[in-house]
Amino acid sequence: MTDLSKEARGLLSQKAYISRLTEVKRQCSIDGTEKFLFALEDGHRIESVLIPEEDRLTLCISTQVGCGMGCTFCLTGKSGLVRNLRSSEIINQVLTIQRSLTEGTRLTNIVIMGMGEPLANYNNTMKAIEILTHPLGPAIGARRITLSTSGLVPLIKRLGNSGLNINLAISLNASTDEQRNQIMPINKKYPLAKLLDSCREYPLKRNRMLSFEYVLLDGINNSPEDARRVARLLKGIRCKINLIPFNEFPGSAYKRPSEESVLAFQEILASHHYSVFIRKSRGADILAACGQLREE
Ligand code: SAH
Ligand code: SF4
Repeated sequence: MTDLSKEARGLLSQKAYISRLTEVKRQCSIDGTEKFLFALEDGHRIESVLIPEEDRLTLCISTQVGCGMGCTFCLTGKSGLVRNLRSSEIINQVLTIQRSLTEGTRLTNIVIMGMGEPLANYNNTMKAIEILTHPLGPAIGARRITLSTSGLVPLIKRLGNSGLNINLAISLNASTDEQRNQIMPINKKYPLAKLLDSCREYPLKRNRMLSFEYVLLDGINNSPEDARRVARLLKGIRCKINLIPFNEFPGSAYKRPSEESVLAFQEILASHHYSVFIRKSRGADILAACGQLREE
């Protein structure tokens, strides 16, 4: 930066440095989804996924190397938590990928749904969001950012009071505590009643909704009774529901349900007046779909 004085450069090199992600691999799915594997400065690796759709270009970013929450259906969870990402490492996924796009193409949405539990890395994730949304920074609108959590109740409250105004998605994934305890160990600490109370109390702005994600695991949580119980659980919460048919990975213990059973599940929730979407599994051929990200 030769446009700065020597003095200023000297001061900057003492106090600051510009961190970088190194692109290790970039894979393209037949559906246009692209998966980026980045090396961090300490050699650990993370993945980010770019998802083009007709009217938007969404980037899914990671907040941790691995994840400590241990959900039994998730490949990222299998490796346990390696470490939290620094805020620069979270932001750099956005900046690096934005820079690699062809001119005139811009990211329209950011989903914090990659590797890791973002609320378990609360401070760094919040700082990254503050910078990404800052008018002097990338200035991405908070409405275009969605954070997904497995349900860390006290931190959901803290996020609600943070004034950040991003969208919140909750990974519900079960219709009873017994089921959820089995597939999401976090439920033993924050069971459904507590989790859903925190959702009811979440300070939603006008015209905004919570999202609930529900991974459909064949024979585990995808029966018509499950759908009816979900309808009851979410009563009174302004929300939409995203159904995610399980994405298989090598060695996974669960099966993806049939399309008919997925549609039947959707139909029951729709009949209770919920907006329910079936999440397409983008990039599954390159292990880029939900729950398929890891360090390689
Ligand atoms: N840790 C956060 C965000 C990352 S996971 C969370 O759990 O919400 C993003 C979403 O992928 C979650 O809704 C999770 O339930 C879902 N998911 C994880 N593994 C999956 C798999 N194998 N198939 C489909 N969805 C999966
Ligand atoms: Fe972690 Fe989310 Fe995977 Fe659970 S689903 S192990 S919280 S990344």
